[in-house]
Amino acid sequence: MDFELTQEQEAMKRMVKQFTRLEIAPYAAEWDEKGEFSRATFNYMSELGLAGMSIPEEYGGTELDNLTIALVLEEIAQGCAATATYLAVHNMVAGVIHKFGTVEQKLKWLPVMGSGKKLGAFCLTEPNAGSDAAGIQTTARAEGDYYVINGSKIYITSGGEAEVYVVVVKTGGKKKSAAISTFIVEKGTPGFTFGKTERKMGLNASPNRELVFQDCRIPKENILGSPGQGFKIAMTALESGRINIGSIAVGLAQAALDTAVQYAKERRQFGRPIAGFQGIQFMMADMATDIEAARGLVQRAAFLLDRRKYARTMVAMAKKFATDAAMRITTDAVQIMGGCGYIKEYPVERYMRAAKVLQILEGTNQIQRLIIAKDLLGW
Ligand SMILES: Cc1cc2nc3c(=O)[nH]c(=O)nc-3n(C[C@H](O)[C@H](O)[C@H](O)COP(=O)(O)OP(=O)(O)OC[C@H]3O[C@@H](n4cnc5c(N)ncnc54)[C@H](O)[C@@H]3O)c2cc1C
Repeated sequence: MDFELTQEQEAMKRMVKQFTRLEIAPYAAEWDEKGEFSRATFNYMSELGLAGMSIPEEYGGTELDNLTIALVLEEIAQGCAATATYLAVHNMVAGVIHKFGTVEQKLKWLPVMGSGKKLGAFCLTEPNAGSDAAGIQTTARAEGDYYVINGSKIYITSGGEAEVYVVVVKTGGKKKSAAISTFIVEKGTPGFTFGKTERKMGLNASPNRELVFQDCRIPKENILGSPGQGFKIAMTALESGRINIGSIAVGLAQAALDTAVQYAKERRQFGRPIAGFQGIQFMMADMATDIEAARGLVQRAAFLLDRRKYARTMVAMAKKFATDAAMRITTDAVQIMGGCGYIKEYPVERYMRAAKVLQILEGTNQIQRLIIAKDLLGW
């Protein structure tokens, strides 16, 4: 077993750390406050190859393995978890197009996604189907050379801003999950419109919007994979997606710990820095240990997925553990900083608000526990 990163991975980490320090961290609080999605920042990240991390070089990407993508997202999340989230979703969408798309689809979509000209969104959740993903009600009906889509999706990351939507719908069939197919839908397609933009607790630099499909006709060649393969495609996407969310959680937790440690060394009470109190030291020691444990699990899950080994349970463990740890650690960072932790002048309250949604996104942590338990029980 080798726990060392390669020279390329170290170099990538350094480059992204520097970029995050200069181009993301200084603006993150303002983006969050204004609910601003910065397309300029996405374009900048695209120039660095970060929009093409799951796209092979032959299609204009920088193709990185899941482990290196995890390192990149951890660094970006230290500056802004919302930016890391939409970048992760974009790369996940490009990844499934690469994995399941036809040569024509790859030629059409991957170069423009890798260059950042087109941003991707992944569309599964509906008003009546969240955790029960196979219960979606949006339909696609075959009609000549077209499919006609009707229904709606909610909470979609980059909804309205993205140009390429991978949409999971029902096409009919006997078994619930086998009746599902996946389509690529372009922004601007007649019958495809956007509903309300959600106002959220946190992660405000990453927009979430409702999508509405009303007799939306899309050419048959826009089906991703084969009819009935949609559930498998969605679950495949979520496997790498959950590693990404785990990495974002690790980055967020690290940023919270770093801020709290710095503050504890400077803040004086009872005639000494609060870092001198064992009660504070124990909290920081637990936070640091949890971060290392989370990082280890996330990287091991990525390692297994990269070797195409069975990784579903490990991915669920990594996502659950890292995001639960991030929630505890960001909350403790606020506690260590006292009143300063709670006010917006310092970043830890933003970290804490962002951490909460990571326990919900891409399969809640209850769903991750179900996956782990199923494996344990052999069901
Ligand atoms: C900021 C944000 C961004 C998002 N981005 C996207 C996106 O880009 N694309 C997309 O498709 N979706 C997206 N989502 C949706 C997200 O994936 C869902 O919110 C999530 O899967 C949970 O679904 P739900 O909200 O319907 O909750 P529900 O499924 O209604 O669950 C409610 C509660 O019940 C629990 N629960 C449900 N079933 C079980 C069970 N069997 N056992 C135990 N507990 C259970 C859940 O864990 C949860 O605590 C986003 C959501 C948010 C908030």
